[in-house]
Amino acid sequence: MAKYVYDFIEGDRSRADLLGGKGANLAEMTRLGLPVPPGFTVTTEACRAYLAEGQPPVGLFDEVNAHLREVEARLDRRLGDPRDPLLLAVRSGGRYSMPGMMETILDIGLNDTTVAGLAAQSGDPRFAWDSYRRLIQMFGRTVHGVPAEEFERELAAVRATAGPAGPDAAQLRALVETYKKVFAAQVGHDFPQAPHEQLYLAVRAVFESWNSERAVLYRRQEHIPGDLGTAVTVMAMVFGNLGPDSGTGVAFTRDPATGQPGVYGDYLVDAQGEDVVAGIRNTVALPELERIDPASYRRLTEIMVTLERHYRDLCDVEFTVERGRLWMLQTRVGKRTPAAAFVIAAQLVDEGLITLDEALHRVTGAQLAQLMFPAFDLAAAPAPLATGVGASPGAAVGRVVFDSAAAAAATEPVILVRPETNPDDLPGMIAARGVLTSRGGKTSHAAVVARGMGRTCVCGADALRIDPERGEFTVGDRVVRAGDVISIDGTTGRVYPGRVPVRPSPVARYLAGELAPEGDRLVTAVHRLLSHADAVRRLGVRANADTPDDARRARELGAAGIGLCRTEHMFLGARRELVERLILAEDPAERDAALDALLPLQRADFEGILAAMDGLPVTVRLLDPPLHEFLPPLHELTARVARAEARGEDPGRDGTLLAAVRRMHESNPMLGLRGVRLGLVVPGLFAMQVRAVAEAAARRVRAGGEPRPEIMVPLVGDVRELAAVRAEAAAVLAGVPGIPPIPVGTMIETPRAALTAGEIAAEAHFFSFGTNDLTQTTWAFSRDDVEGSFFGTYLERGVFGVSPFETVDAKGVGRLVRLAVAEGRAARPELTVGVCGEHGGDPDSIGFFADAGLDYVSCSPYRVPIARLAAGQAAT
Ligand code: PEP
Ligand code: MG
Repeated sequence: MAKYVYDFIEGDRSRADLLGGKGANLAEMTRLGLPVPPGFTVTTEACRAYLAEGQPPVGLFDEVNAHLREVEARLDRRLGDPRDPLLLAVRSGGRYSMPGMMETILDIGLNDTTVAGLAAQSGDPRFAWDSYRRLIQMFGRTVHGVPAEEFERELAAVRATAGPAGPDAAQLRALVETYKKVFAAQVGHDFPQAPHEQLYLAVRAVFESWNSERAVLYRRQEHIPGDLGTAVTVMAMVFGNLGPDSGTGVAFTRDPATGQPGVYGDYLVDAQGEDVVAGIRNTVALPELERIDPASYRRLTEIMVTLERHYRDLCDVEFTVERGRLWMLQTRVGKRTPAAAFVIAAQLVDEGLITLDEALHRVTGAQLAQLMFPAFDLAAAPAPLATGVGASPGAAVGRVVFDSAAAAAATEPVILVRPETNPDDLPGMIAARGVLTSRGGKTSHAAVVARGMGRTCVCGADALRIDPERGEFTVGDRVVRAGDVISIDGTTGRVYPGRVPVRPSPVARYLAGELAPEGDRLVTAVHRLLSHADAVRRLGVRANADTPDDARRARELGAAGIGLCRTEHMFLGARRELVERLILAEDPAERDAALDALLPLQRADFEGILAAMDGLPVTVRLLDPPLHEFLPPLHELTARVARAEARGEDPGRDGTLLAAVRRMHESNPMLGLRGVRLGLVVPGLFAMQVRAVAEAAARRVRAGGEPRPEIMVPLVGDVRELAAVRAEAAAVLAGVPGIPPIPVGTMIETPRAALTAGEIAAEAHFFSFGTNDLTQTTWAFSRDDVEGSFFGTYLERGVFGVSPFETVDAKGVGRLVRLAVAEGRAARPELTVGVCGEHGGDPDSIGFFADAGLDYVSCSPYRVPIARLAAGQAAT
């Protein structure tokens, strides 16, 4: 029979798939001998079974009971004991951390009789009644969906009549009676008094919270698979709300914002765990604990050192002090900002805890991308309106909105301003450029979620009086209304009125060669990791660039050449007219005249690019898109001709153009006259381009340069298409003196090209996978339409985890890639193979390309550093 429940002493951190991150790490801490309250974990497998069947797997609760008895024996306390009741915390925890997205229920086991036992044992009836009312509220909301306001309203009413110390025991006792009435009215039956029933219902509610709307949304955002399920940890309660010698907090082994070593965190005296994370009350910085409770502080710092050495990474913990005794409630390898990720990885290498190879895997391409974002130009900034906690870095400028719906609906950049956020604000946080709150610290919901998504966030700006109802906030006598522009700095925590100009990031300046690697801790860390990636990677990284400026930028960013120089933009603007002449030519002489006029222009284009990439390969792709894209649109021409005719005038050239556009109209232009087909149908077009490349190279040689052009033919499906173009190219190249050897190769971007790659390789010096078209043609998805069409539904339903246009579909498209590499190299062992579709800049796809044995990836200039890093990761 399946085993669905594991005691903390049975598991370890390698079993996060089964026990969830929380359960596995609690087990690990238990094994390390750290003070963890006894408990057990119900597996993700049980959750999956529950979600599939709609009921718990057979025997699950018998197993739960058996483990519960062990916990009871260890603590010498029983669930439901009227004199000294054991109380339980029931928490969610999936394989991947999803902060605040699923449910937790505390104080399970309290009822009308055990509450008295708790009061007697703790010597604090006020605490006991407060715990009971918390249970009814959490249970009502989580298990039965009772809106929080139903309880909050009653609580506020009691608080309003209480003294400055808050409601007393009698008032809380009366409040429990009121809560029970609210519960019964909302749910249709009384609050369950049987502690075991409370436990079973709580476990089921946590299972179900896996599929709550916000959890589903969060997973989609973070690319977490939807079918993993959550584990449920059940743990003996410890109490941080037993008076001034109790409290609860969150701590990090290093600053998660900057990577600075030292113990960081927030602490809240006389409070229960969720109060810190919810950001509901303002916390004190962790070093204050040293003053409040030196022994617990010392023990905590020792434990943090143990954890960091053990996990060899930044850890964060949740802990509770119950009457001077420290308990660890959770740990995990902590989330961190992109800057902290690089700094910490480099520090851990220096501290001898990890190797440089390991350090490469402690950072991601997405983090590097974020570090290339600009920051505010502080010299040009006005005095800040307020300063909060810089919780997630970046420089965000936008119009103020006060609720999630407005943020999600906005068409311009917005900043979401809330007193605090809760998981319902997730759509707004995704839509906004930045998040600003007036309450909560670095570990509040807003901070944790924003950091995870890379959204700029300032929290706890307590000078702000936020009134979402009126759509405004005030700072002193200044009023900022919805729609006003503000700027927030997620590093310093400053909030500025108006639009503050932004300047480039130091990492971007370093990558562009404007800043030395020494002198800035972050830049030094990026330099070390990227240098190591460059040293170990086997994949080359080129850029997709089609202007000299882009080529220069790409080279600065580390590109080893151009893997795709598209030539289509070179036919736009003032040159459109020449293309029109080419298309409308009625005889060879007219056509040649148009081509002759285009030749020097193209030659100059290539000369500039070859100069910028001197000494490095430049793959020039011959013209690809359908020619009619260079002509005016059909409806525009039709209207122009109709207007001329209505005036009784001769439409002249427009009339001829219209006839040509009608003649060339195609229902499926992407499957039509484009790529190599154009070269075969429009005499002289490809020959002109090849000549322009060759003559540009000859000029560069004469100027003392080292041009290395390559010619690439798009959209080939059959070797005979390529052979025809290659023969034409060879004839042209033979007639241009003083040029280096110019390889002629092909894109592999149709399934047929991949399937006949062995034949095609006989005519090709190189292959470059055009994975945009190859994805389009393999899936039969129109690359230009799908994003706004059915992809949303596909992603929602989990048909994909991620769009195949973003991350290469390794199973289908990838299979064609592997086959073409193998058959191409078998036919021509020296064949160079690269990729130039968008996937060439996607870290997940780069891992695949490395594995498939490609020689290089080619991506947009700004993604070059990211591709270098990913290629290094793929090699280690
Ligand atoms: C491709 O299809 O992947 C490619 C690089 O060419 P384009 O995007 O220009 O069609
Ligand atoms: Mg293509």
